[in-house]
Amino acid sequence: MSPEELTAAIDALLRDHPPATTDPHEFFAARFDAGLAWVWVDPSDGGSNAEPALQGLVEQRLTEAGAPVPGAYNPIGIGMCGPTLLTHGTPEQRARYLRPLYTGEEIWCQLFSEPSAGSDVAGLAARARRDGDDWILDGQKVWTSFAHLSHRGLILARTDPTVPKHNGITAFVVDMHAPGVDVRPLRQLTGDAEFNEVFFDGVRIPDGDRLGDVGAGWRVGTTTLMNERVSLGGAIATREEPGAGLLESYRVAAARGEGNPVRRDQAIQLWIEANVNYLTAVRAAAGGNRGKPGPEGSVLKLTSAEFNQRAAEFQNDLLGPAGALLPAHEMRRPTLPYGSMGIPSTQTTFLRSRANTIEGGTSEILRNILGERVLGLPGDVRVDKGVAWKDVPR
Ligand SMILES: Cc1cc2nc3c(=O)[nH]c(=O)nc-3n(C[C@H](O)[C@H](O)[C@H](O)COP(=O)(O)OP(=O)(O)OC[C@H]3O[C@@H](n4cnc5c(N)ncnc54)[C@H](O)[C@@H]3O)c2cc1C
Repeated sequence: MSPEELTAAIDALLRDHPPATTDPHEFFAARFDAGLAWVWVDPSDGGSNAEPALQGLVEQRLTEAGAPVPGAYNPIGIGMCGPTLLTHGTPEQRARYLRPLYTGEEIWCQLFSEPSAGSDVAGLAARARRDGDDWILDGQKVWTSFAHLSHRGLILARTDPTVPKHNGITAFVVDMHAPGVDVRPLRQLTGDAEFNEVFFDGVRIPDGDRLGDVGAGWRVGTTTLMNERVSLGGAIATREEPGAGLLESYRVAAARGEGNPVRRDQAIQLWIEANVNYLTAVRAAAGGNRGKPGPEGSVLKLTSAEFNQRAAEFQNDLLGPAGALLPAHEMRRPTLPYGSMGIPSTQTTFLRSRANTIEGGTSEILRNILGERVLGLPGDVRVDKGVAWKDVPR
């Protein structure tokens, strides 16, 4: 599709489905069918075979028109599982899963981390054994965001323990409502239980829900993680007009007579960082749109997470002693879309920001990736290199 044809398709979408009066799920369905979900892919996958760079045009026009954002309704599905399906899914899997994922009818979660395999996710122990046309899945996952709302999960499981860890992993799509799946809440510092621990006890997965080849799960998982970093970094960097909230907080504090040159300098420094992160997010999204994000996704995730923590701390400090008082701490189970539970307090935002440098890869791990893969520095110590997974002490 040419830019002119794409513009005409956007005009028609907005004319036939005015965002102000259309149910968001209906709007997403119409957007998918119009080839405006991921413009660079085939029409059957929600695209229009257009230049990837034109995705920015679609986002800009729809944002200006006040259209709902699919990522707010299915964050892990849109940010990570969708791009992974586009890259590794068979035509049947893409036809079955992409549209309901995009419309938010089927919420997705990402089942990678385990109690002993977070940073070292390739060391995971959940087992899938072949049984005729099915696989039988046993094991535990942890920190699974939105598992309590999910219909589908993208899971990595060990299918061959006799080879080195990266080679014995296979990726699957698991039905989160299948017999043997048990989702339990895990409470966070904020009091909310946004994530979960998930137990799998003899869960059957049809071989048709295997994503990629047997033993090729690490490649599938890497696609997910690279997209996660773009998605998380992008969300952090583009949450609002970059830095505007920081300046507003400072103005409010100054009006109370609590401004001073040091705090003003801090506010301006953070505003500059917010804008640098925003520009990096725009660059990373251009790569991410093609389903093949580059290292700038990891850079953005690293810098945005650390920036976000400093910004949240600054805003909380401006509250003075009130910053130490949490308005409420009951356990809530977050719902979607984002924002449906109300705007979190400054204190809660400060507490939630502590997770930013852990989720989606810790800052230490991202620095390792940058050092090794971007700067070409000597690698981290790896005592399990070339050793069969079953022979690695754990
Ligand atoms: C809010 C939130 C949501 C999450 N959602 C999901 C989700 O939906 N799905 C999912 O699968 N996971 C999810 N996670 C899990 C997340 O990916 C892991 O917490 C993360 O990868 C770190 O793993 P870990 O917690 O096991 O810590 P560990 O890996 O045990 O790390 C502990 C500490 O050791 C450091 N460390 C470890 N290895 C190295 C090394 N080689 N070099 C230097 N330092 C090192 C780490 O940086 C960290 O400081 C979520 C986490 C959070 C906080």
